[in-house]
Amino acid sequence: MDITELPVDGYEKVVRCRDKASGLHALIAVHDTTLGPALGGMRMLPYASEDEALIDVLRLSRGMTYKSAVADTGLGGGKSVIIGDPSIKSDPLFRAMGRFVDSLGGAYITAEDMNIKIVDLEVVQQETRWVTGLAREAGSSGNPSPYTAYGCLVGIEATLQEAFGSSDCKGRSVLIQGVGAVGGRLAELLAERGADVIICDINDERVASLTKEHGYRSVPDEGHEAVECDVYAPCARGATLNDESIPRLACKVIAGCANNQLAEVRHGQMLTERGILYAPDYVINAGGIINVAVEMLPGGYNEAAAMERIEGIRHNLAQVYEIARTEKVPTHDAADLLAERRLQAGKIAKA
Ligand code: NAD
Repeated sequence: MDITELPVDGYEKVVRCRDKASGLHALIAVHDTTLGPALGGMRMLPYASEDEALIDVLRLSRGMTYKSAVADTGLGGGKSVIIGDPSIKSDPLFRAMGRFVDSLGGAYITAEDMNIKIVDLEVVQQETRWVTGLAREAGSSGNPSPYTAYGCLVGIEATLQEAFGSSDCKGRSVLIQGVGAVGGRLAELLAERGADVIICDINDERVASLTKEHGYRSVPDEGHEAVECDVYAPCARGATLNDESIPRLACKVIAGCANNQLAEVRHGQMLTERGILYAPDYVINAGGIINVAVEMLPGGYNEAAAMERIEGIRHNLAQVYEIARTEKVPTHDAADLLAERRLQAGKIAKA
């Protein structure tokens, strides 16, 4: 196994692994460990080149530093990518990846991400203990989606508080795009609190079964952004807040779990100009990472501790909104400022 360090400005460690025997070609980026070991998922994609994979791993690991800093997980940011076709997986490949992760001695802790399944991580775990997010039966934190959904609910309440002076969901109309693992659970949590839940999804069968079972209202996915509502919760895919959708939005706030909701950073400013309060995606969707981070605490995973920490999303968003208000910046910039201030405080405390 050939492990080479790639010097990259602003990153603590970036390493490449080439392993002839298993065919592994992978990169790990440890962006920042000021606040703790770097946790971030492992993804596998048929990148066109190593440069393309490098751009991805650098961008994603930096994003994890910011996400964990705001979520106050006591962790830093990292990520790993396997360059390869996810339809061609093997035990030797994931065992080699395990040895690669292990070579960093715990500075990087891995988890599931795109095209990586728990069964793959179980093979990785045969070579390293720096793996999180495995099955609950194995003493790990299990499926993160219900925790992401609960964090999203807490985040919607914090956003209602900021916009309307009350966090009560009762009677508030909430439009959820994407009622999958997270959006589906979020709909239930909101309905339990008396919200008027409206759903849309490209999966018509899913919509039909949920409306029948729970009595939600539904709207066609096409053009859903123009539906009048208090809260719009994008819970399907990224880049839905863009030049086409923003002028059509008829909501007062946006608070959903999807990653990378702003097509470009400037769309955050467009939302501010339209008077729509935006809950920055990486702050409101941190329930899953907070849940996984509890595995790292002394004594290991504990659901009650996880739920208590996920409540912290309320406080984190309140801080983001306060920065946005007092410093007159869009909320997504305010989130970055909060992350940078927590990192700076961590650096001073360590010095
Ligand atoms: P999922 O695949 O279980 O659900 C996604 C739902 O969105 C599905 O019902 C799908 O039919 C629907 N959908 C997909 N494309 C659509 C489109 N173009 N228009 C309308 N509906 C569409 O995924 P999930 O785990 O619920 O995650 C949802 C989002 O939240 C993703 O962006 C994911 O990256 C993000 N996220 C998830 C977690 C987690 O813990 N699962 C954590 C953080 C962020």
